Amino acid sequence: MSRRKRLIRDLARQRALYLIDLAEQEVRRGNVSLSRKYCELALAILRRTRAKIPKYVKRKICKKCHVILIPGLTSVTRIKGFRRSIRIITRCKVCGWVHRLMFRKR
Ligand SMILES: [Zn+2]
Repeated sequence: MSRRKRLIRDLARQRALYLIDLAEQEVRRGNVSLSRKYCELALAILRRTRAKIPKYVKRKICKKCHVILIPGLTSVTRIKGFRRSIRIITRCKVCGWVHRLMFRKR
């Protein structure tokens, strides 16, 4: 990767993380539509530059309506199964989208 490309991706990552931060603040203030706008902008920047952000940050955004998922406020989180695997189920309170994450025990 050229130096220029790396610089662009670095900037894109910083901007996306900043926008997601802002989106979280807006959702806490009750501004769901503004928060969604910030998220969509962040996702667009990431898509255009193909920059990567950590998985746990990406999981914070609802895949369907692009709202920041905050447990208790915009999402409900349940943990199921304890023996062989653990499933973390996140449901978006705004659109009802459900995300399941599974971890197997070794
Ligand atoms: Zn949603």
